[in-house]
Amino acid sequence: MKNDFTCGDIEKCNPEKTKPCPFCGSKEIVIDKYEHRAGERFRIFCTGCMAMIDPGYAQNKHTVIEMWNKRTAQ
Ligand SMILES: [Zn+2]
Repeated sequence: MKNDFTCGDIEKCNPEKTKPCPFCGSKEIVIDKYEHRAGERFRIFCTGCMAMIDPGYAQNKHTVIEMWNKRTAQ
């Protein structure tokens, strides 16, 4: 799965550890590692509808996976 809108380092999430998208139901959830002025940061988004969580401070992917899973639980 490729997306043109980002030049970050994309990694597909393990669907067993990451909940499906609450908006479109897609299980294609990916982590994007990108360069911030302060260092590497992570964000997570759905490739189906581009719903994204980008806290701007996440320094490892587990942080954004946890945020993603918490949001879908609401
Ligand atoms: Zn979605």
